[in-house]
Amino acid sequence: MDFYQAAKEEIKRSADIVELIGQYVQLKKAGLNHVGLCPFHGDKDPSFSVSSTKQIFHCFGCKKGGDIFTFWMEYHKVSYSQAIKELAEKYHVVLPEKKITPEKRHELDLKEEIYRINGAAAAYYNYILVKTALGKKGIGYFDKRSITPEIIDRFKLGYASEDWDGLTRFLSGRDVNLEKAEKAGLLITKKNGGYYDRFRGRVIFPIFTMEGKVAGFGGRVLDNSLPKYLNTPETSIFHKGELLYGLNTAFPHIRETGRVVIVEGYTDVLALNKHGFYAAVATLGTALTQNHLRKLKGFSREIIVVFDADSAGKSAAVRSLPLFLNEGLSARVMILPEGDDPDTFMNSRGLDAFLSHLDRAMPLYDFYIESKLKTVEPGIAGKLEILKEVIPVLSEITSDIQRSVYIKHLCERCDVSESVVLTELNRLRGTVSGKGNIARLESVQTGSGVKSLKEYHLLNLIIHSPGIAGRALVDDFKMLISTDEVVKIFNILAEEYRLKKNIDPAQILEHMQEGQERDIFNEVMLSEPIYKGPAVEQAVLEFENRIYDIKLSNSINEAKSSGNIEKLNELVKLRKAI
Ligand SMILES: [Zn+2]
Repeated sequence: MDFYQAAKEEIKRSADIVELIGQYVQLKKAGLNHVGLCPFHGDKDPSFSVSSTKQIFHCFGCKKGGDIFTFWMEYHKVSYSQAIKELAEKYHVVLPEKKITPEKRHELDLKEEIYRINGAAAAYYNYILVKTALGKKGIGYFDKRSITPEIIDRFKLGYASEDWDGLTRFLSGRDVNLEKAEKAGLLITKKNGGYYDRFRGRVIFPIFTMEGKVAGFGGRVLDNSLPKYLNTPETSIFHKGELLYGLNTAFPHIRETGRVVIVEGYTDVLALNKHGFYAAVATLGTALTQNHLRKLKGFSREIIVVFDADSAGKSAAVRSLPLFLNEGLSARVMILPEGDDPDTFMNSRGLDAFLSHLDRAMPLYDFYIESKLKTVEPGIAGKLEILKEVIPVLSEITSDIQRSVYIKHLCERCDVSESVVLTELNRLRGTVSGKGNIARLESVQTGSGVKSLKEYHLLNLIIHSPGIAGRALVDDFKMLISTDEVVKIFNILAEEYRLKKNIDPAQILEHMQEGQERDIFNEVMLSEPIYKGPAVEQAVLEFENRIYDIKLSNSINEAKSSGNIEKLNELVKLRKAI
């Protein structure tokens, strides 16, 4: 019998498959069952069926089916035991512990102990803030931001006084093992023995886990000294890339409305709460991670990232697009009016205005393309840059429907044909070999003695488009040439460019000695240009990409032969990213 059988039964009792799958798939009631578009294959008619009475799902298209555990495994691409762990956490079911080694036991005990110490510290900071004269400065800070006593209580805000050892004395008075308090990141070891407090002269924001345990703290100075924010260092329970500030109080509201707002800082979460908007969280001063999104995905269908107009966070939003696309999450971006933060916005316009702004928030994908179009050079080069960045991301999206929507939009906005993007996508997915125009042109025949067509094209390009000489007549481009005569021609052209900063092919031909190089040069001069107009720029880019590929492959081979696995992984990832 399955070791987790009892726990599985309990999870099944707490969970409803329609409700669970409904968080990820739009389901409609149809007879006894609920149906929707299958998340596992490119489904156009709803062939995905969920039975509430049997607590199973089945797809009549791709034949995938099973219970909530199967769904979780397939949907989140996790192992069986991971699925059980995550669902147990989601439905607050305690799992039996597998034979635990003494080391593991010790580690778990330490974690529990750290949570306990953090809980005590949070209570201490809150007490100092609310009940003592030392806390006046903290109260002053919160007052200025009109953070009410209710909010202070709901978020258990606190104050760490300027004392070097206020918390240290408090904890030792309560028989807390100070070594463990140091492991919790609360205390710092003195050079000559003993401890002092990490957080001093700061207002304190306890950071809770979903279950409401204190994982760590954020502390903010009251003046303009640095660092403005100080967080608990990474400990066995405090991982910035996984925790979200405010999630413990926000998640029932997120589940209810199906959407969550991500703001920039702790005080933004507080401000929104104060004005009656509860489904808000903040990262702990770091960029969003895959783990953050997976946490939110269980409760919310949609994520809205809110930024101040002047914020550096905007570029972070742009960078986070691949994360959202990969998670299949719909995300939008709301930029506050110039000079506003969530608090001032709510103060001057109120909750309704905020909500209607949210409704009109721009899809992150559009925001991404619009911001990119603003930063890249106008014209074909800039568009290519965007395509080069977005296409690999699109190739990772598993849902065919979603991908085609994104492609359509990309093509419309960048004014390129869908076939160009699709060809690139297929190339990335390994179904079509070759590299765009140059590869397609390689079926062209030439009578010259040039060994490879690629060299012929390169020569044709340089000779017929002298404007790009500065970019093409550099040493790297020689990597693309293997015919001796072409190398010689290249060298002559490069020398000419070095001396005159431009090239005049006709004049060069005139001064060339009789021989095979001259014949080749002549043939290319007389042939039609292969690349015209915008194709010139694209061709240069393709050649540059080839060079980059060659260099990368060389580095990969080097890393392979020297056994540098770390480097190898990094390079392979890079290659995948091209
Ligand atoms: Zn299916």
